[in-house]
Amino acid sequence: MEGRTSKALFERALGLFPGGVNSPVRAYGAVGGDPPFIERGEGAYVVDVEGRRYVDYVLSWGPLVLGHAHPSVVSAIEAAARRGTSYGAPCEAELDLAEAMRAAVPSLERMRMVNSGTESVMSAIRVARAFTGRSKIIKFAGCYHGHADLLLVQAGSGAATLSLPDSPGVPAATVADTLVARYNNADSVERLLRANAGDVAAVVVEPVAGNMGLVLPAAGFLADLRRLTLEHGALLLFDEVMTGFRVAPGGAQSKYGVTPDLTMLGKVIGGGLPVGAFGGRREIMELVAPAGPVYQAGTLSGNPLAMSAGLATLMELGRPGVAESIERAAAATAAVLAEAAAAAGVALQVAHAGSMFGFFFSATPVTDWDTAAATDRRRFARFFRAMLERGIYMAPSPFEAAFVSSMHGAAELDRFRDAAHRAMREAA
Ligand code: PMP
Repeated sequence: MEGRTSKALFERALGLFPGGVNSPVRAYGAVGGDPPFIERGEGAYVVDVEGRRYVDYVLSWGPLVLGHAHPSVVSAIEAAARRGTSYGAPCEAELDLAEAMRAAVPSLERMRMVNSGTESVMSAIRVARAFTGRSKIIKFAGCYHGHADLLLVQAGSGAATLSLPDSPGVPAATVADTLVARYNNADSVERLLRANAGDVAAVVVEPVAGNMGLVLPAAGFLADLRRLTLEHGALLLFDEVMTGFRVAPGGAQSKYGVTPDLTMLGKVIGGGLPVGAFGGRREIMELVAPAGPVYQAGTLSGNPLAMSAGLATLMELGRPGVAESIERAAAATAAVLAEAAAAAGVALQVAHAGSMFGFFFSATPVTDWDTAAATDRRRFARFFRAMLERGIYMAPSPFEAAFVSSMHGAAELDRFRDAAHRAMREAA
């Protein structure tokens, strides 16, 4: 359409949606300016309504591990749509996706498909509470597990970006059973387990934290959580909504060799359509209705379009060498950031895990929410804007991870390198 600008569309959006967006992380409050309106995605690129092309390191916040509009995914969705968009009844596509998921993540002995990451975590905690007969849960400051009431306590992602770690509208009683520990600090977990002996149903963790920026688990941290939960009769829940099929084909649990009782998934398993799933030990999952008494349901759960998109994604990702080459692209991108920072004399912490990477403007290592929050947000905002101007699309917050896809090749890396060197100098 003639004269259509992101600015004009955003003004229109402000009259429709709170803050002009349908999810707070999309707003540009933390970095300044208005968000580009995206017209289409093509491989590693998004194109905005003004025709600007950006190399995309957001990838819909993780799901698009094959990039935008991958032909296999698109044709799977088209074929499924021709057979009807939803049945609300069992279909074979659910089985195919579930079997592909379990082949990669064997701890998913039984699972349930849902429609979002939020739903998967909320439902898994209900099951954990039922299984243990206990109410309390332990989460970590800076970890984000979706926007369910009970988890909106010292949450990462948009809540951290907007400095809204605790949300109004969440009754005190709903979060009274949510205890908060320090990431990478097993002692903080042990103290809570001891002080609440016999009351803690579950410890829920992002095994690689991606919602306070990217923060890797320290050596032994996840194993300590496994040992402590076993000692105290609590379940260990890995929120692999972001890390699943990203940090390794088998998720963080395979990369770090620690098996949780329940795992939550989302993002990649839906191939860009709305999907979540939770699953784990059979005797726990058998509590879920209709096998057991724990109620959990969904009109669109196991939706054939979403299942087909997810399956096509996992099939492509499972082809020899694909996951490895995406990992190499993430490592190379992280290395470019480190090199650009060094050249500009800027103190930067860089990390990567599988097909994710992250960075903080800080001279000291970032290991938890306190150290993440202490990094230089103003410099991030300057760097972000300078990158955007040069056609690099990243999350508009220092407290998000970045993602690459199988479509991020040498040309994109060159473009990233060129932009990063200039942006780093501007941000210095
Ligand atoms: N858990 C984690 C680790 C996430 O990163 C997210 C979303 N970024 C969620 C849960 C919530 O998923 P959704 O946005 O699909 O509800």
